[in-house]
This record gives sequence, C-alpha cells and structure tokens, in this order.
Amino acid sequence: MASEQRDYYEVLGVARDADAKAIKDAFRDLAMKYHPDRNKAPDAEARFKEIAEAYAILSDPKKRADYDAGGFAGVAGFSAEDLFSGIDFGDLFADMGFGVDLGGGGLFANLFRQHRRPTGPAKGGDLEVRLVIPLEKVNTGGEETVRFSRPISCPDCHGSGAQEGTQPRQCEVCQGTGRKVVTHQEKKEQGSVSFQQITVCPVCHGQGTFIDHPCKTCNGVGQIEQEDNLKVTIPVGVEEGTALRIPGHGLPSLEAGQAGDLYVIVRSQSDPRFERHGADLWRAETIGVPEAVLGCKLKVPTLGGSVEVKVPPGSQPDEVLRLKNKGLPVFGADMRGDLNIRLQIHIPKHLSAEEKQLYQQLGTMKTETKKHWWN
Ligand SMILES: [Zn+2]
Ligand SMILES: [Zn+2]
Repeated sequence: MASEQRDYYEVLGVARDADAKAIKDAFRDLAMKYHPDRNKAPDAEARFKEIAEAYAILSDPKKRADYDAGGFAGVAGFSAEDLFSGIDFGDLFADMGFGVDLGGGGLFANLFRQHRRPTGPAKGGDLEVRLVIPLEKVNTGGEETVRFSRPISCPDCHGSGAQEGTQPRQCEVCQGTGRKVVTHQEKKEQGSVSFQQITVCPVCHGQGTFIDHPCKTCNGVGQIEQEDNLKVTIPVGVEEGTALRIPGHGLPSLEAGQAGDLYVIVRSQSDPRFERHGADLWRAETIGVPEAVLGCKLKVPTLGGSVEVKVPPGSQPDEVLRLKNKGLPVFGADMRGDLNIRLQIHIPKHLSAEEKQLYQQLGTMKTETKKHWWN
C-alpha cells in the first residue's frame, strides 16, 4: 500500500543547513556512483532518480525553502520541467565522462515521466505526519499506528458554517462578492479617464456572507478537525527519514477530486543504549585503567539480548570493538549492520594513599610509554 520516499537531505546525506557547495558535492559523488550508464545494478536507476530529484529541490533556494516549510507536500506540484529547468546537468557532468541528454526522450525525460501534473479536478493537498518508532521496530518491521488529525467538511452544516435549518445571509453591500469596486472619473484634456479600484468589502471583510446562527459543531468555520488512526506497515530496516506514502489520506479536494496523500515520515526514537548511524549502532562503554591494560569482559546490550564481549589487553581510549551483524537490518538487503562499542577509559582523579603508591611504583618502572616518549 505504501511506497517509500526518503527525506531529500537524507538522500544526499547532507545536514539540513548544508550550503550550496556541500549539496553539489554530495550530488556529484552520488550521481557518479548511481548513474545508469555506469551502475548496472537493478535499483541504480531508481536511486539515481531519487538523487537527482533531491538535488533539483535542494539546489534551488526557493524550492528548498518550500520543502523545508512544507515537506513533500510543499513541492508536490512540480512537473519534471519545473524541477530540472534551472539545472545545468551538462555542466555538472561535463568532466565525468558520460552525457546527459536533456532533450526529448533523454535520460531525464524517461526518468521523470511520471512526475507530470495530472489533469482533471485538483487533488486535495498532501499531509505530512511524523512517526517516531523504537529501534526494536526498525529491527523487526511490522505494523504501527499513526495518529493524526485533518480538516474535513463539517458534517452538521455540510461546510456552510450556518446552523442546521439556517442559511448564511448574503452581504448587501457587495452582493456576496466580498469585493468593493470604486470608480473614479478624472477629467483630462482629451476627455475623461475612469479608474476602477477594487478593495475588500469593508462590511463583510471579503466573506460575502454573514452567518447569523453559526453551526455549534464547527463554530461557523465549516470544517472540523477529525482525529484519524491509520495502521501503516514499517518495512524491516526502514531508513531514517523515509516517507511512507499513503494515497488518499491527505486533505480533501476542494473541487470534488481525489483527496491528497498522507506522507508518514519515519524517524527512530532516541535510545539510551544505542546511537543509530544508518544500519550501524554505536555505544560507548567506560572501563577502568586496569581493565584497559589487562583486558576484561563486558556485558553489552544488543537488540537481541545482552552478550559478553572480550576487551583485549592493551586497549586504547576510543578504540572500537566491532560486533559484526549485531546492528540493524539493512533496508532492502539481506544483511545487517554492526554494533560498534567505543571504549572510554576512566582515569581516576582521586586516589587513595595505596593507589597513589602503586601508580608511583609503576611510574618508576621503565614502561613502554616512557620508552616511547622520552627515549
Ligand atoms: Zn458546522
Ligand atoms: Zn460584503
């Protein structure tokens, strides 16, 4: 039911405040990797399309602002021409050894055929909601319930805003148009010239009607917010920022057309145990100086229960122990990321007299460290 669309910043792997150069560099690197002329993997073309679309939006300040403000809904109306007209792909790719034909029937025309605006009554607007899921759900996939609210036409007044049995009253000043037209005549040498000035009707403030008895359900607005619950299927290993598109669950059409789509943007919940980097998980473990020097065993949590990890003797600060395949599943592939344990070593600040003596004893010995630094 749902198709995935990933956040444009995620697609290019850049920060939300990345500058134009960073965006261009990221695009060039990815385009090199996924250009269908070079990459024959079955999903290369889809990836390339995703990358090019993200670049088209983020490289244009106006479109980027629309996207930042309204998400996918903010840029949903662009056709392929709108998207790519401002970009000189020839220039971008000139030194990469493959051509980009932007003329009819070229690569981009083929890739973006489906991006054209449909004809017929305008679709309702798209709606975007955020869904935060625990890492366990990223791990297993499965159903999640999205709660969101959207405006619908008030069922009691059928959108008029007037109480049942009454009608909105037309403004007599503007005859329901909501506008006031003032005509000026000015005498000139060649005759008279007339000007028309159109302003908002000052009596009804542009509404055209008055509601004497507002509908109690919607307070005269004609729309109410309706809470909705929707079950969505989270794919195994869903990537950060993935947008699941649920057709027909967006805003109602104002012209009796189809309702817009609902985009569910999936984010993973911050987790005190792990930090997520793609399919890899990271965790810090602090050990003492003797443990780092002599080695030790650690009990470490994983998504599949805790495991025992051997810290080898002579471990260094910031050294990383990799637990292969103990990370998250990779979306769309039969593999898993790793769980990386970064070692932190606690250097004691307050020593007992006995500890101090032991460290002093160690200090007088010809240690490996001393040889390295002083000899
Ligand atoms: Zn109502
Ligand atoms: Zn009026």
